[in-house]
Amino acid sequence: LANMMDVSVNDVISACMSLGMMVSINQRLDAETLSIVAEEFGYQTEIVKPEIEEDVVPEEEEDDPDKLEPRSPIVTVMGHVDHGKTSLLDYIRKENVIAGEAGGITQHIGAYNVEISNGKHITFLDTPGHEAFTAMRARGAQITDLAIIVIAADDSVMPQTKEAINHAQAAGVPMVFAFNKIDKPGANADKIREELAGMDILVEDWGGKFQAQEISAKKGEGIEDLLEKITLEADILELKANPDRTSTGTVIEAELDKGRGYVTTLLVQSGTLEVGDTIVAGSHYCKVRAMFDERGQKIEKAGPSQPVSMLGFNGAPNAGDRFVEYKDEREAKNIANKREQLQREQGIRSQKHITLDEIGRRLAIGDFQELNIIVKGDVDGSVEALADSLLKLSTDTIQVNVIHKSVGQISDSDVLLASASDAIIVGFQVRPSSTARKLAEKEEIDIRLYSVIYDAIEEVRAAMEGMLKPKV
Ligand code: GDP
Repeated sequence: LANMMDVSVNDVISACMSLGMMVSINQRLDAETLSIVAEEFGYQTEIVKPEIEEDVVPEEEEDDPDKLEPRSPIVTVMGHVDHGKTSLLDYIRKENVIAGEAGGITQHIGAYNVEISNGKHITFLDTPGHEAFTAMRARGAQITDLAIIVIAADDSVMPQTKEAINHAQAAGVPMVFAFNKIDKPGANADKIREELAGMDILVEDWGGKFQAQEISAKKGEGIEDLLEKITLEADILELKANPDRTSTGTVIEAELDKGRGYVTTLLVQSGTLEVGDTIVAGSHYCKVRAMFDERGQKIEKAGPSQPVSMLGFNGAPNAGDRFVEYKDEREAKNIANKREQLQREQGIRSQKHITLDEIGRRLAIGDFQELNIIVKGDVDGSVEALADSLLKLSTDTIQVNVIHKSVGQISDSDVLLASASDAIIVGFQVRPSSTARKLAEKEEIDIRLYSVIYDAIEEVRAAMEGMLKPKV
């Protein structure tokens, strides 16, 4: 409000105080108060309802089936840590050169396209792991057509292998299995086939529907065959796109380069993107100034399934943001501005997560029924004891739920769970990892650490009775 009226924040706060309202700098005023305060400064207010996000999302054109042309598959590599995802991506990037072209791809642009010996193309997303895959999905971007699940044949199907399989299945993305490290003396791909069969995943050479290939990402053995199997699997999907329309696609990554400004990697998904086109991604818009392929070569246009790194944005759009081309630059600008405004408003209005200090206040206004808690501790006995005692604090008005309890450091995934379920985290004789601590700050998750179980219980009880002493 102070910005809009071009007065200092202190003036607005004093005005509120003179009207009998004690306010703080980041407090939201209701419409009526806003009008009264604005009047004090000689302004009339008009309250405009924010437009909903749908208003700034352009309608997708329906593609004429006659205009669809085959496009190359977009592939993500997933699997357990150390099973060889990075090695596989590196090998393909370095060794797989387009016939007649010397040298591999030295550039890292987040995605690359290779031509394989049967003349077909594959686009790889160069960020291995299901976390990246799921983070993209969480932003509404489903760009992967196929997943390669890498499993080290000298190891077993591991927890993250299962997670990767679950994530791919949840997204409905077909899988091709790569049994890696077959050069190692202890490698036993049949053991892996058997473990997969135990999970109802039967590979082709065992009469099932899943293609699998034994490879060595280190020596390059079997990789040609793996790539061929990917193209076979892709053929079944009959992937098509219309290259002859205004382009759309997804932001893969963006970074600030000292010399060149913001460098953004886009994956074109339909239409053809050309230098000079106007595009919007998230709350940014620009005219495409220059484009480069994964080999660092300047290009003028990029069609479906083609990754490009481009210059032009004056900020960094988020990975997973959709980009859309506009014929009318003014329209592009409007849309980007509207989105920025929306983001700002949503930022201010974003719901703060629950904290122990907040409980008393919410109790007082009577909108509090449940308290979700995540319990982490150093040993099983204390986790159980603490969780039990916390559960027993439930009263007629507040139900205490322990939504997750386990032994160990407070991790990123604990914080994400707390954020998704509006929970507080209680740690007994454990601390958050440094990344979890940062994430908790960002997500505004209340982490409480104790070394005495009694203290933990008493503090939560006090909060529930609205009697928590302020933190010093
Ligand atoms: P990621 O964590 O899944 O990305 O795994 P990396 O690609 O980083 O590989 C983990 C380790 O396994 C590295 O030391 C690699 O050199 C090694 N490695 C990967 N593939 C092979 C392989 O085919 N054979 C052998 N012997 N070692 C491999």
